Amino acid sequence: MNPDTLLQLVYLLSATLFVFGLKRLGSPATARQGNRMAALAMLIAIVATLVEQEILNWQLIALGIILGSLAGAIAARTVRMTDMPQMVGIFNGLGGGASGVVAAAEFFRLGGGDLGVEAGVTILLSTLIGTVTLSGSFIAFGKLQRFISGAPLTFPFSRTLNAVLFVAILVIAAMQVTGGATVTMYLVLTGLALVLGILLVSPIGGADMPVVISLLNSYSGLAASAAGFVLGNMILIISGALVGAAGLILTNLMCKAMNRSLANVAFGAFGAADSTGGRITPGEGKTVRDVDAEQAAMVLAYAQSVIVVPGYGLAVAQAQHDIRKLSDLLQERGVTVKFAIHPVAGRMPGHMNVLLAEADVPYTQLFDLDEINDEFSTTDVALIVGANDVVNPDARDPSSVIAGMPILDVDRARNVIVMKRSLSPGFAGIDNPLFYLDRTMMFFGDAKGSMVDLVRETKEV
Ligand code: NDP
Repeated sequence: MNPDTLLQLVYLLSATLFVFGLKRLGSPATARQGNRMAALAMLIAIVATLVEQEILNWQLIALGIILGSLAGAIAARTVRMTDMPQMVGIFNGLGGGASGVVAAAEFFRLGGGDLGVEAGVTILLSTLIGTVTLSGSFIAFGKLQRFISGAPLTFPFSRTLNAVLFVAILVIAAMQVTGGATVTMYLVLTGLALVLGILLVSPIGGADMPVVISLLNSYSGLAASAAGFVLGNMILIISGALVGAAGLILTNLMCKAMNRSLANVAFGAFGAADSTGGRITPGEGKTVRDVDAEQAAMVLAYAQSVIVVPGYGLAVAQAQHDIRKLSDLLQERGVTVKFAIHPVAGRMPGHMNVLLAEADVPYTQLFDLDEINDEFSTTDVALIVGANDVVNPDARDPSSVIAGMPILDVDRARNVIVMKRSLSPGFAGIDNPLFYLDRTMMFFGDAKGSMVDLVRETKEV
């Protein structure tokens, strides 16, 4: 067989594996398999490309693979689940940067001058998107990691400045494509793109960074795709397009689950820092019913049905293994236990699925918002563990800042137990009327410690 046909067939195999891998990521039951499939596809693509390009310096490549694998393995093992968004942020940034560097290498290889329309457009597009992704992702990372303030950084005419910068970039790019490129123009364009990335992400509040990271993920895919055009590499074009599309779909889903538009996330300067900055005094003038582990255990153990609602606090406290123990204990007593997963519970999409999977909670016990919401009214106990906004009935009030956000209807359950440390608000920074209902019992404390106590007490009931 002609070597080129063989190469295209190998790329086709790799692309097919990518698509099926992505499909399998759609369900927690098949996600691990999907991840392995996509990793295999990437390995095949890399090896095929290296062979095709007759890369001679295998030592350098081997060194790169070893160093990259080491860094990846260490990061995957040591980064906490709650810090995952910033790790993805760095990966996106580096992905975008890599595409930009590929484009730059091609620019210098061609020696500037008359690039021609095809090479000119693809090189400049890859440079632009890659560089914006690089600097934007590092700002997103800095905000989430608290290296820089998470507060929206706004100043007068910032949007006008962004628009001017963008137009300037387009003009310089058009000049390079039509009238010949120079190294100075190329460097100016790259510099402006770096600044644009910083200015685009800085006005967005730290709490919205997961959405921004998902969007930048999409950009990094587009940058890779553009780099694929630069190199004439089919698999890079396909895989970049898949990342671009997947990132956009995810961004859209996150916005929908918060009932906000992408424009509102990008330009709304929503929520300073973690949005809990004391803008309200929760519980002022209101009373709550406070229970301890023994009382909560009694309510749970004598229930027939319990729906557990995990949230960000569960992830912070790392109480997923204890929640699993409680669920097993209750089921041994004949209680039906289900888990209700809100699409934006926690700080990244799928956050709760990953946590519960880590604790081997069976997938058959996990239900999406749409699947389970009608069941709350016939459920004995809704057990909320470190969740707040996703169960806030205020979302039904048109004047609320979270108006229209789909919520889990836990307030319709016969009894509600809320496990958290205080009456402090969550990400949205607003009080939660759920806490003050007659049917609600507040079980205060760190979710991990409280869950350990609850398991112990449930054994004794
Ligand atoms: P929230 O942020 O609304 O609330 C989490 C609650 O957890 C807090 O009120 C806090 O209360 C409690 N908590 C924190 N630490 C602990 C601990 N150690 N033990 C027990 N409780 C603890 O979380 P939700 O999951 O309900 O909602 C997620 C929010 O994040 C939504 O507003 C969503 O829009 C937003 N968001 C989600 C994204 C995603 O992709 N998942 C992306 C972007 C934003 P206390 O301090 O009293 O303990």
